[in-house]
Amino acid sequence: MGQTPKVVETVAALREETARYRAEGSKLAIVPTMGALHEGHIALVKQAKALARRVVVSIFVNPTQFAPNEDFSRYPRTLERDLALLSEVDADLVYLPSAAEMYPEGFATRIALSGPAEGLESDFRPHFFSGVAIVVAKLFLQSEADFALFGEKDYQQLKVVTRMARDLDLKIEVVPLPTVREPDGLALSSRNRYLTPEERAVAPVISRALNAAAAAIRAGTQPQAAVEEARQTIAAAGLNVDYVEARHAETLAPPEGLGEPIRLLAAAWLGKTRLIDNMPA
Ligand code: AMP
Repeated sequence: MGQTPKVVETVAALREETARYRAEGSKLAIVPTMGALHEGHIALVKQAKALARRVVVSIFVNPTQFAPNEDFSRYPRTLERDLALLSEVDADLVYLPSAAEMYPEGFATRIALSGPAEGLESDFRPHFFSGVAIVVAKLFLQSEADFALFGEKDYQQLKVVTRMARDLDLKIEVVPLPTVREPDGLALSSRNRYLTPEERAVAPVISRALNAAAAAIRAGTQPQAAVEEARQTIAAAGLNVDYVEARHAETLAPPEGLGEPIRLLAAAWLGKTRLIDNMPA
């Protein structure tokens, strides 16, 4: 087990550390998180360590990506445990800014998004990607990292962030990692801890339904018909479905023809918990 990573809380302190890393000739990777870390986050940190000598993990429950009626105030915060987990995988630095540090009095800048940000999550959480984009852009600029690791678990977010970094010429490589799952297929998520034991038993229906739809599409079923079947399976298990959709795997535009890469994406409520998942077809 490694040392407990150093914790910094301000942009100035972060820059002091990253300047030292650059002076020693090290590459730097950043893993942006909202904390309540699980094996999915840890896989990102391990991959970050494989790409760069120095790794900074940011933990920031970003208020601008939550709507007033969402779970910002009850989002799990488990800092001590997070630091213990991060020491085991040799994270060098934890960046723990306050909301006031990120959004000083009078903060007035927005990033307007289109393309991969359209539809899916945006239809149900219209505030979400503008909040993600501003905080991720700030983290990239504050850290000046060479690499940023993102999970495919949040597939639309991954595509939005990748496109934003390219469009704004941010000097960073966005590196995707596959979704880490429980043995029964449920995608790991900090929000899974909201589930009651009964809900937890039902939750894998989303990944099972997406898997079945992906297999059907590969066997020749029309994507539209396959996702409709998945939607019915998920709804029949008692979930309240926001969407189950097939999209172009890169642009996230609705699929147009034969032979293009397809990604299946779903979001559904299980009681008071909103779960998302996605899979290649
Ligand atoms: P979050 O803390 O939920 O904002 O997630 C931080 C990062 O971890 C994002 O890039 C997520 O996509 C990624 N992540 C979350 N859950 C998983 C998972 N089950 N497998 C892989 N990456 C994940």
